Amino acid sequence: MNRRSFFSAAGGAFALPGLSAAVQSASSPYRRPRLKITDVRTAQVMAHGLQVHVRVYTDQGLIGQGEATDAASGAPLIIAGFRRFLIGQDPLNVDLLWERIRTSGIFAGAQGGQFITALSGLEIALWDLAGKALGLPVYQLLGGKMRDRVRVYCDSQTEDPDDPSAPKKLESIKAMGFTAVKIDIDEANDPSRFDKVNWTASNGEIEHMLRKISFVRGQFPKDVDLAVDMHGRYDATTGKRVAKEVEPFKLLWLEEPCPPENLDALRDIRESTTTPICCGENLFLRHGFRPLLEKRAADIIMPDIQKAGGLLEARKIADMAHTYYVPFAPHCVVSPIGLMSSCHVCAAVPNFLVLEWHWIQRLELWRNFVKEGEIIEKGFVTLPDRPGLGVEMNEEGARKAQVPGTGWFEPSRV
Ligand code: MG
Repeated sequence: MNRRSFFSAAGGAFALPGLSAAVQSASSPYRRPRLKITDVRTAQVMAHGLQVHVRVYTDQGLIGQGEATDAASGAPLIIAGFRRFLIGQDPLNVDLLWERIRTSGIFAGAQGGQFITALSGLEIALWDLAGKALGLPVYQLLGGKMRDRVRVYCDSQTEDPDDPSAPKKLESIKAMGFTAVKIDIDEANDPSRFDKVNWTASNGEIEHMLRKISFVRGQFPKDVDLAVDMHGRYDATTGKRVAKEVEPFKLLWLEEPCPPENLDALRDIRESTTTPICCGENLFLRHGFRPLLEKRAADIIMPDIQKAGGLLEARKIADMAHTYYVPFAPHCVVSPIGLMSSCHVCAAVPNFLVLEWHWIQRLELWRNFVKEGEIIEKGFVTLPDRPGLGVEMNEEGARKAQVPGTGWFEPSRV
């Protein structure tokens, strides 16, 4: 018996035809009064850098929550400027609102940077809101899930073989069950560095890099993947040398061995080595990733979803990469709210590889930031089936990292 015939029978037996109508109308968002955006507010948190949390309010009490990071320092002001495109609008038209705002800003830097970072935080809040309004998890709105749980790697922030506490820290990461780890090998204060400005690594510096990799590699079983980040600081010559030297370690990837602005230089490095090259945390929108893919400059892409354009833009970037058979491994340094938003995209795309987690040194803040508590279990996040993102901020926990002197989701005055 389908729902309609059940209610029709129920109506006959119990004379409650109104109940059927009520359930039918309540189950279809298109029969409810149209949702309207009434306000957009922000709060600033300092954890791994600055994170700007965004809330979109509606006339029916539903609130969507998003997060932006890295290039987020101007986000509160920029988002206040977005209000004229949002107030009174239907938040379910996420992509339309995104497109209007982005194209309105092409003379104001809407090709990347703070503008797109601010838009990313807003877009994520709109998806959370749309999911809540429609009663669906966000991954469902992004095409449905291809996997129930998302693999997460731990950015260890520990790689110094001369640090006596390092083995214990790495042991605790292993005990947490992660199947992949990342370390940093760029060092501005390396004693073998001959110049404060030039980033051509000396033999001594490269030896120190290899020592770090060898040390961390030795702390984990072979089936735990190791990724290595150079943060785009070095020149192409150094990038090429390091990529070659690290080949025996069979890295998951070498990240940004040179800056990302010159993709030909990056491609030269990629073509010179068997070490997989990863790039993308400093690129924005599909437009930033198109030349990276066309030039075959990276083996793996790593868009920062809270910065590169938001959830649907990340899905579009991942799909574009998939046509080149390039895996998608998003950069992620945000709170459990932002990380869970990334998980919805990672669940929905075919070419997902692994997602970053960067709060190992902020465990207490991490575990108290959302009402759901710890969301990573043995290196995986299980997608919640609750409407929207499926996590809600624990105000008391989150406010411990509030940027002093800033407002906390204060109503907009304009
Ligand atoms: Mg990086």
